[in-house]
Amino acid sequence: MSSRRRKPDWLKMRPPSGRRFTEIKSVLRDRDLHTVCEEANCPNLGECWSGGSGPGDGPGTATFMLMGDRCSRGCNFCDVKTGGMEPLDPDEPANVADAVAEIGLDYVVLTSVDRDDLADGGSRHFAETIREIKRRDASILVEVLIPDFGGDPEAVDRIIDAEPDVIAHNVETVERLQWPVRDRRANYQQTLDVLERVDRTSDIRTKTSVMLGLGEYDHEVYRTLRDLRGVGVDIVTLGQYLQPSRSHLDVFEYVHPDAFDTWARVAEEELGFLYCASGPMVRSSYKAGEFFVEALVR
Ligand code: SF4
Ligand code: SF4
Repeated sequence: MSSRRRKPDWLKMRPPSGRRFTEIKSVLRDRDLHTVCEEANCPNLGECWSGGSGPGDGPGTATFMLMGDRCSRGCNFCDVKTGGMEPLDPDEPANVADAVAEIGLDYVVLTSVDRDDLADGGSRHFAETIREIKRRDASILVEVLIPDFGGDPEAVDRIIDAEPDVIAHNVETVERLQWPVRDRRANYQQTLDVLERVDRTSDIRTKTSVMLGLGEYDHEVYRTLRDLRGVGVDIVTLGQYLQPSRSHLDVFEYVHPDAFDTWARVAEEELGFLYCASGPMVRSSYKAGEFFVEALVR
């Protein structure tokens, strides 16, 4: 079912190209904005930015990274640089909102580096960006992929009060592997608490992501999914961990696409998630708009 050495064919990526790609890139450069799509060299970039897999597809999805390109944490799976954070750019919320309008995105994902150096973890800045986007066009759907804010409930509430359409917070891996996969300041229970708070205090859809291929056992994946559903998570995505560089954690195994399909069935049919996107190339925000609509109609 799985290969442990060579990258299998199902992980070959299609390089991004075309007019739409060039247009979006130019808007981002002009405004000095960062996207996870580019920073993480995401394998789905061509598909997401074009809104589908071919000409005539919709305006698409992109994931903006707020509050700079340096993180106060250092997770061992993530390619973002650690330390040396810059002060926040007060114009960023408006700038992101203007770029979203200019590009014509219909579904936006906002995420950020962790900013443990800021008293509010950057939650006000995050909330302001949501409001700026909705102020320009209330029909744009906004998904936020938030940090744990060090477990500060007031920071989570600030995000809820800004009324995004989806609040995501990633558990990343099973409980046993939280360290060494995530920074030591993150942990399994804290992540469940953030998701549970959103579910308990609002009608906003909740979402999380799990990477496979880090050495987790099936029973641990099952337990993780069950725990997530237990705190009311609506949408879950599962994808293959890919090593960004040799200094990051090794890939333990390349999980076969059939196994991802099985997890999708377990998540939806047995555990009752509204939607599960599961596949080797799936990332937290992969086709996020489509999955959100699917989750709404179920
Ligand atoms: Fe990367 Fe997020 Fe970890 Fe920072 S907290 S290193 S951005 S995964
Ligand atoms: Fe960007 Fe997410 Fe799509 Fe990757 S999956 S290209 S990060 S929107």
